[in-house]
Amino acid sequence: MSTQDVAGRSEGGDLRLAGLTKRFGSFTAVDNLELTIPQGSFFALLGASGCGKTTTLRMVSGLEAPSAGKIFLGDEDVTGRRPYRRPVNTVFQNYALFPHLDIFENVAFGLRRRGVKDVKKQVESMLDLVELGHLARRKPTQLSGGQQQRIALARALINEPQVLLLDEPLGALDLKLRRQMQIELKRIQLEVGLTFVHVTHDQEEAMTMADTIAVMNQGRIEQMGSPEELYENPGTTFVANFLGQSNLIPGTIAGTSGDTVEVTAHGQKLTVLASRCRPTSGPVILGVRPEKVQIVVAEADVPEGANRLTGGVVIDASFIGVSTQYLVKLPSGEEISVFEQNTGREIQRPGTEVVVHWDPSQGFGLDGTQDIEAGADVDEESAA
Ligand code: ATP
Repeated sequence: MSTQDVAGRSEGGDLRLAGLTKRFGSFTAVDNLELTIPQGSFFALLGASGCGKTTTLRMVSGLEAPSAGKIFLGDEDVTGRRPYRRPVNTVFQNYALFPHLDIFENVAFGLRRRGVKDVKKQVESMLDLVELGHLARRKPTQLSGGQQQRIALARALINEPQVLLLDEPLGALDLKLRRQMQIELKRIQLEVGLTFVHVTHDQEEAMTMADTIAVMNQGRIEQMGSPEELYENPGTTFVANFLGQSNLIPGTIAGTSGDTVEVTAHGQKLTVLASRCRPTSGPVILGVRPEKVQIVVAEADVPEGANRLTGGVVIDASFIGVSTQYLVKLPSGEEISVFEQNTGREIQRPGTEVVVHWDPSQGFGLDGTQDIEAGADVDEESAA
């Protein structure tokens, strides 16, 4: 059993969502979520706008009542508890600092409300944690966006929540500041060791910070795992397209030989590791990430045993410094993306005929009955 003090804070325990559901009228925003977020982890709920991330967070914080299901913190069922009785704090995108209070008082707010008399030491140590002790007497408007967000974080952390919820916390910051804050947030989470649940539509942000990512789609969890697992071994076309980019090629399983699966696609024979191929027969969608694909002009230069697609033509070559990004059109009309690291190799110009190839161990096989475009173009305007 976890212990609890008068403020409703409890020590220890995972955050567990059991059959958590939220319906607005006939619309199901969050659909029967089953999720355990280990104590002390940095967890990201990642998904396009409208997939139900914020609604999930609001149910955890108590701002929204679930239509069904339960929320547990450790052994405690907190589903019916009022927001202020939950050991949970939220940091929002729009910092929500008190403009009339200085930074010190903003951070001290939670302690004072709980009747703590001597706040100095705790406030100072929180300001040290976010490295803003020297700005204690400034007003929020005298701070930059990134600094304000760090104060919002300090103000939440001083309450010693068991779980800190972060709702698109870096959304209002420009790109460079966002990168800095991602590193900062990760450092702070490691230092305080609390459970952080971070909601974002930005896949790079989720991958930079989280130990575990749950990809949400239409109120459900599509796949959950470490950033590497999700990226290297996506389980659905939605995840393959939403998290990074994927080349997805429809084909048919021709047979299995040892630990490899043979696939026929566009009349060519390709292979994928059986351990990375979800279907065992019938239609399959073969996937490979653009940076695992290479192009050569002469077929003789394709390494032995590599998967190859011949007769492609470069239709675009964009040099972006660290790499050149090619778009190669196959005779089938399909386009393959290739990211070639800038190691000084000659850039192939549009119009050049090339062979596309990759190591079979780098591909993955997905259920071929899915929508091949799922997750490809969602959230374009907000993901920018
Ligand atoms: P975003 O990234 O845009 O904030 P989200 O994934 O956080 O999106 P939610 O805010 O959880 O999405 O909303 C999920 C769905 O539920 C949306 O379709 C939204 O329109 C709907 N929804 C949210 N709140 C309400 C409400 N109070 N009444 C009716 N529908 C709602």
